[in-house]
Amino acid sequence: MSHRWSLRPGLALVCLLFACGAVLSVHARSVLPQSAAKSTSTNPQAKFTFDFGPAAPWTAPIHWRYNGAGEPQQFPTTLSVAALQNAMAKWSAVCNVAFVYDGPTAIPPRATVIDPIQGTVPDSINVIGWGAAAPFIAGAAGVTFPVPYLDDNGNITVGDADILLDNTGRIPSNGVLDQIALHEVGHMLGLGHSEILTSIMSGPPVAPYSGLSTLQTDDVRGCRCLYGPAPGQGAAYTCSLPKKVEFGDVPTGAQSTPQSFTIFNDGNVPLTVNDITSSGTELRLLGGCPAGIVLPPGARCTEQLAVVPASSGFRAEILTVATSDGNYPVPTTFNALSATAPHVAAVEYYNPVLDHYFVTWLANEIAILDAGVKIRNWVRTGRTFRAFPVEQAGASPVCRFYIPPDKGNSHFYGRGTAECTATAQNNPSFVLEDPAFMFMVLPAAGVCPVGTTPVYRVFSNRADANHRYMTDPALRDAMVATGWLAEGDGPDRVVMCAP
Ligand SMILES: [Zn+2]
Repeated sequence: MSHRWSLRPGLALVCLLFACGAVLSVHARSVLPQSAAKSTSTNPQAKFTFDFGPAAPWTAPIHWRYNGAGEPQQFPTTLSVAALQNAMAKWSAVCNVAFVYDGPTAIPPRATVIDPIQGTVPDSINVIGWGAAAPFIAGAAGVTFPVPYLDDNGNITVGDADILLDNTGRIPSNGVLDQIALHEVGHMLGLGHSEILTSIMSGPPVAPYSGLSTLQTDDVRGCRCLYGPAPGQGAAYTCSLPKKVEFGDVPTGAQSTPQSFTIFNDGNVPLTVNDITSSGTELRLLGGCPAGIVLPPGARCTEQLAVVPASSGFRAEILTVATSDGNYPVPTTFNALSATAPHVAAVEYYNPVLDHYFVTWLANEIAILDAGVKIRNWVRTGRTFRAFPVEQAGASPVCRFYIPPDKGNSHFYGRGTAECTATAQNNPSFVLEDPAFMFMVLPAAGVCPVGTTPVYRVFSNRADANHRYMTDPALRDAMVATGWLAEGDGPDRVVMCAP
């Protein structure tokens, strides 16, 4: 007797959708902010994930049925069943998971039954059928509904996994049907979305969908970690690597608290660890898995590692564990603290006569404006943002131009060398007062690194040109509502990032 136990009711929803790259790349960035100094990687790579927190396989061959209700004319039952069986055969060819087709059924996907103890529960019959996927996930071409069960030994297994193929046009061709089937069957057998871009199972929230149609290394490893290699196959692989290693805050120049990861040979033939290398220069391997070590099946080694940041800021380095089963990426992250990061407050002033804004961090300018004698009519708005007064690793110069009276009689702060150069070229009459008035961090596609604050800029769009800078998006929106123009990058219009 087994009883059902829902780990995350309603959350075990997985999908396949297209045309979501823009949104997803934002997610990817928020997970892994770029180092300003290096790292062209925009996606962390990580191990395969599973449908449920603890990896949960089926404990017996996966029986399934097909419901042809609502199937598109171009995908008649024989074709659809063949496509699904073909997808299942691809998985069965690389790992020890078996599927049994029990024929057609009139039971729809996601049917429930009444359990005398638990009430309404999934019916434990795996049905693959057609319907609109959008009600479950917008833009989805297929949705799988895996349900975790608890068996008599207290182990989590998959107990029901129906698949809904979209019949509203998200699957336009046989090729796409093959892709969707391969991906959704991966969910059915217990795999979640991988963070590795080049895999069948890649998907949100970290990676976009791959659009691939053949199983990739990461897919094969994920399936083998649930089921082992296919019968008769000799394979070495490891399932013990972490999704990532996080060092947290580390003072610049100091060695972090060591972390470790274990390479366990989950396969049935020896696994050789050829080498472990880093994409950067700040990680230190402290030993444990020497190059060339051979791990027999069931053996392990544990590598210790630490980070010694050379400069401040958040960074990620990818460790590559090169093995006889190919490369395994191990992302690492750390946030290097600057012991002496000096910052100043850029103070905002408003002149009601001119209806102009101005910011400065210089003590002598602040004193003059506060005194209101030599230069009159400027009052503090009470708003400030942080800036570096001197060059900092990861920060860029902000130039200050004086806009002459005929063009506005105000000041403009350009972020980074590119904008400063362009401003000077496009406005020969502007006076470059300082090519590096202060130093700020630049956003990447409108996203500020972790630990920094977005700074917004609006332009008055009047003949007497004036700009205002602020960290409060509500204030920015209020300015825009009165006719000022928001300038900056990305959906949130960010120009620079305050330390
Ligand atoms: Zn999916």
